[in-house]
Amino acid sequence: MSTATVAIVGAGVAGAAAAIRLAERGIGVELYEAVAAPQPIGAGLLLQPTGQQVLARMGLLPEALELGVRVDRLYGDTPAGRAVLDMSYRRFHPDAYGLGLQRGALMGLLWRRLRALGVPWHCGAAVEGFVQDSGGVTLQISGQGTVRHAALILANGSFSRLRAGMKVRQRARHFPWGAVWTVLPAPVGFPQVELRQRFRSASQMLGLMPVGKAAADDAQRGINLFWSLPLAELDGWAARLGLERLKQQMAALFPDVAPLLAGLQHATQLREARYADVRLSRWHEGRVLAIGDCAHGMSPQLGQGANMALIDAHELAAGLGGDWPDVFARYSARRRAHLRFYSQVSRGLTPMFQSHAVVAPWLRDRFFGWGGRLPYIHQQSVATLAGVKTGWLWGRLRLADA
Ligand SMILES: Cc1cc2nc3c(=O)[nH]c(=O)nc-3n(C[C@H](O)[C@H](O)[C@H](O)COP(=O)(O)OP(=O)(O)OC[C@H]3O[C@@H](n4cnc5c(N)ncnc54)[C@H](O)[C@@H]3O)c2cc1C
Repeated sequence: MSTATVAIVGAGVAGAAAAIRLAERGIGVELYEAVAAPQPIGAGLLLQPTGQQVLARMGLLPEALELGVRVDRLYGDTPAGRAVLDMSYRRFHPDAYGLGLQRGALMGLLWRRLRALGVPWHCGAAVEGFVQDSGGVTLQISGQGTVRHAALILANGSFSRLRAGMKVRQRARHFPWGAVWTVLPAPVGFPQVELRQRFRSASQMLGLMPVGKAAADDAQRGINLFWSLPLAELDGWAARLGLERLKQQMAALFPDVAPLLAGLQHATQLREARYADVRLSRWHEGRVLAIGDCAHGMSPQLGQGANMALIDAHELAAGLGGDWPDVFARYSARRRAHLRFYSQVSRGLTPMFQSHAVVAPWLRDRFFGWGGRLPYIHQQSVATLAGVKTGWLWGRLRLADA
């Protein structure tokens, strides 16, 4: 620990990527992670062209491509066969695709790079609080006393309690719905080129996404299965509903899932996901900066969270120069339009896919499929999915050169 170095709290996608990008530029970084022995686990991710670009700048894209699966299309429909979403990346750019990846595979790549760079990494070090002054930031580590650094980057996820220590207007609200998810072995012949969703109104949603291998020497490819549930039903679902009834509900909504469900034998295979809508009036205060879900948690409906975390890391490291408060203020200004747009879209779209609402999904079913056939609407929808929009009508994200 040193007063010249920057502390990063959280070794998820945002914290690990920021540590890499800063260390690559010769900045002293120390990483603090609450979990004693972090494991490369987590839901399947769709890495958008923006996130892929950041991985490419880090030199990690070739390995990510080896592990993951190119997803060309997102297709969602109702049990009656009405197309609700039909988005092809090629309509955005002939070479564009989403990369279906296991979060564990991505974390494995990032953590290996961290180790290769020799970034000090303190596991089992839960940061409980911080105090900043004009010369630095003092962190309180649970059971380990205090450490002092030149600046602090909070990358400890949507449910960060440290965020409240930043004197900026903020609000973090649980989404009323969450999900259970798992990665199952892909049966022989199971389609692996598109993200497939099936909706019944907004109260049932099943998502299937090819996510490739967990590690380079893994022979088995996986399919990420996502099943939406209201929070009241998510808590204790295994005891109340039971795995067999849940599987029956999935198969009733989307019979094609049956061969995949053969690999789902125990309730413990399904992990629970809860998410929050996090809003901050700005992402910095003096020597403290929030990035990743801690700064702008959103629902996974748009498949942007990990992309945003990678872009945050890239843009932060690309804007170095001067003292940390200036670096952080520049970062906030540079990220504003992009983050604002995706937070708004996420907030607006989520109730159309995860809620007990009746009118919103009815309108969705009638107009999304129809609107998507109009070239301009389709272009805008795919650009939104690709993660490049910075405004409702125009504005495209340009990653900083670095
Ligand atoms: C079901 C699901 C599907 C998703 N699908 C996609 C997708 O398709 N595409 C996409 O881009 N994104 C997706 N996301 C979102 C994506 O997973 C997140 O946005 C991303 O992982 C956030 O990374 P993060 O580093 O900001 O936070 P996290 O991954 O939450 O990491 C925070 C880290 O901080 C640590 N920590 C917490 N508190 C402390 C403390 N006090 N001290 C020290 N350490 C601490 C935690 O242990 C953790 O390691 C999905 C999310 C879910 C739940």
